[in-house]
Amino acid sequence: MLGWMLPGSADATTAVSTKPVQVGPTPVGGSRFTLVAGPCTIETREQLLTVARRVRLDGASALRGGVFKMRTDPRSFQGLGPAALEFVDEVRRETGLPFIVEVTAPEQIDVLAGRVDALQVGSRNMHNYYLLKELGRTRVPILLKRGLAAQLREWLLAAEYILAGGNEAIILCERGIRTFEPETRNTLDLAGAVWARHHSPFPVLVDPSHATGRPELIAPMCLAAAAAGLDGVMVEVHPEPEAALADGFQALTPDGFTALATALAPVLAAVGRS
Ligand code: PEP
Ligand code: MN
Repeated sequence: MLGWMLPGSADATTAVSTKPVQVGPTPVGGSRFTLVAGPCTIETREQLLTVARRVRLDGASALRGGVFKMRTDPRSFQGLGPAALEFVDEVRRETGLPFIVEVTAPEQIDVLAGRVDALQVGSRNMHNYYLLKELGRTRVPILLKRGLAAQLREWLLAAEYILAGGNEAIILCERGIRTFEPETRNTLDLAGAVWARHHSPFPVLVDPSHATGRPELIAPMCLAAAAAGLDGVMVEVHPEPEAALADGFQALTPDGFTALATALAPVLAAVGRS
């Protein structure tokens, strides 16, 4: 795997076999579909604990929550910063679930590593090659989101930057790309996610929350990702979406997440996954 490189012409019909990545106690990319859930941004201890407890009951295998946020509007909430890590410590201890946090700058790597189970590179930072090189030097699992206007080849080359430093623990995440269509926040490129899984050794997740920006589309797109043989989904859940400080318009309620988990089970069974 360390020597893996994207071929110059990626027209191979034979799929590259996926190498599972261990995120804390959760293997990503094996026979179990990975269900990552949590708020866009960690706001309070109560908010995080409420979501974590509920999604764990419904079978979530990893938690998410933003600490340092990359917000489009500089006047909007930018995340609690390191103060949120105290709540992360507590939910990891209580639930036993691994926790994924986005890293937005190299100086945050030391702050986060050791307190979280995987580092997310957000869409806006996929092209930040200096950050990718620094993450390549760590041995922390990296969830690499696709840039909002990145071609598939550029996405896999970004993964190669991390791999080149010796870090093989890479998971890809398709989160929608910007197109001419305004009715959805982005356009979910499901075919692109399957392409990336076929042409690289990395497990591939789908994030229908950012890809669609519409709660009513999230469950159907999760089912589609499962049916397409992808390795998991990441969804935003908030106890009170209308009061959320970030991305509330696209958050599932805990009940919405229960419905999603229930609907996923027969689809996963049909494709031989649990
Ligand atoms: C997020 O996961 O909260 C996020 C900011 O995602 P993206 O980088 O895909 O916009
Ligand atoms: Mn978000």
